[in-house]
Amino acid sequence: MHTAPMRAIARSASLAAACFAIAACGVSQQQEIQMGQQEAAQVNAQLPLLQDPTVVGYVNSLGRRIASHTSRADLDWQFAVVNTDVVNAFALPGGFIYVNRGVLERASNESELASVLGHEIEHVVERHSVKQMEQAQGANVGVGLACALTGICQNAATQAAIQLGGTAVFAKFSRTDEQQADEGGFRNMINAGINPTGMLTFFKKLLAEEQQSGSNSAVSSWFADHPGTQDRIADVQRMLSQVPASELRSLETNSAAFNSMKARLAQLPPAPRTSAGQ
Ligand SMILES: [Zn+2]
Repeated sequence: MHTAPMRAIARSASLAAACFAIAACGVSQQQEIQMGQQEAAQVNAQLPLLQDPTVVGYVNSLGRRIASHTSRADLDWQFAVVNTDVVNAFALPGGFIYVNRGVLERASNESELASVLGHEIEHVVERHSVKQMEQAQGANVGVGLACALTGICQNAATQAAIQLGGTAVFAKFSRTDEQQADEGGFRNMINAGINPTGMLTFFKKLLAEEQQSGSNSAVSSWFADHPGTQDRIADVQRMLSQVPASELRSLETNSAAFNSMKARLAQLPPAPRTSAGQ
């Protein structure tokens, strides 16, 4: 939890009441979608989103392809690209996925980008942030989460989100949630016909960049939000070793559409530089 947004939001008594209600009674799919829509509206208004149809269209078609093979194919999945070099991605309840341009810039093929989307999609499939709300024990946790999930914290908190690359105001997932998202994301890729090797190569790439450029680089926020990258690499290696080589070979690693997206991205003005650290 993040104390600053919580302090800001604790001033609102009516919101606190709403939070108690949500935390106490469980969250239906309809409520989840409503929360996601509300927060997405806030995020869309306040984060610098890339509007280019080629790039955004491609990310949506790849993301929807992956999501369509999950148990929550019925959600109205929406994918947006945040125009920042900071490497990160986040998911809102109800199927709203945001991936930073820094991820697109660093992905060398469709498989690498799909590994990030597949992971975020799995957070939604598993309802990780909704479960956090439902399991919230204390008022502060409920308030903090509702703040995060409904986006009512807005200005100050969302500004912080830009600084941190997207996740400052959103629910922090446990290591177990992250592991589940990796495992589910891995399966989601295979089910969509995409070679999951990109998950391994992309993790390794980020780790190399982190080791080279230090703790205040464009990849720092990724590591702050996704601790244990070494362990995650080992997990992915284990999962990969369990997929028969013939099956891996039958899955796609790249596509012409990915290459067109990258070519288009290279033509666009660079993303505004955002500080990754605090
Ligand atoms: Zn995650």
